[in-house]
Amino acid sequence: MGHNVNPSIYVDCLAAYNEGKAHGKWIALEDLGIEDLQKEIHLILKSSPSPNIFKRDYECNNCFHEWSISRSIFSPYSDMFKTDKCCKKCQSREISFGEEYKSSEEWAIHDYEDLTTALGECPVLNTVIELTALVVEHGELANGVYENASDIDESKQWLEEAYQGQYESLTDYAEQYCNDTEMLSGCSDHLKSYIDYTSMGRDFELSGDIFTIAVNGELHVFSSNY
Ligand SMILES: [Zn+2]
Repeated sequence: MGHNVNPSIYVDCLAAYNEGKAHGKWIALEDLGIEDLQKEIHLILKSSPSPNIFKRDYECNNCFHEWSISRSIFSPYSDMFKTDKCCKKCQSREISFGEEYKSSEEWAIHDYEDLTTALGECPVLNTVIELTALVVEHGELANGVYENASDIDESKQWLEEAYQGQYESLTDYAEQYCNDTEMLSGCSDHLKSYIDYTSMGRDFELSGDIFTIAVNGELHVFSSNY
């Protein structure tokens, strides 16, 4: 909330890239849905200087679902163009389609802003959209979590259910924990001064009750029992 981030990806047309031609584009993701992102990538491929397939766009007149079908550019006769007969979403046969056009087929992400490179060059686009939402909500921490978690679902769980906050050190976390749980409410201040919070914090981590993730030098603590 109030995180100054602008999650963006640089998408390259792979065919052009492999021929040494620059044909990519930065896409800002914050307000994009999955279909918007698919459309942005579609436009990059469609305007490629190195086309390698034929494509045709379809639209359902009933539910306005849009899709494209491709065929090889090299074998136009053996690989006959398949014309879809109905909409995959609503089964309507009222569909319209445009002329065939040349396009390229493959894309790759070659740069990221405010998103971790742990996504890889060719991630599932839904994962990109979901991580963007987490970064907008939780800031850079979301990227650190994604790098350590096994997938986007676990990242979400860690941020929403396991997160205990940011601390200067495990010593501070242990002291805060004792105060919050009123564990030492019967203790005099004199007795409290003997408590070794550093050792306590270390034991919390060693016992597996908590785990930590450091992001930009900041220590974030997560509960293992969420
Ligand atoms: Zn439809």
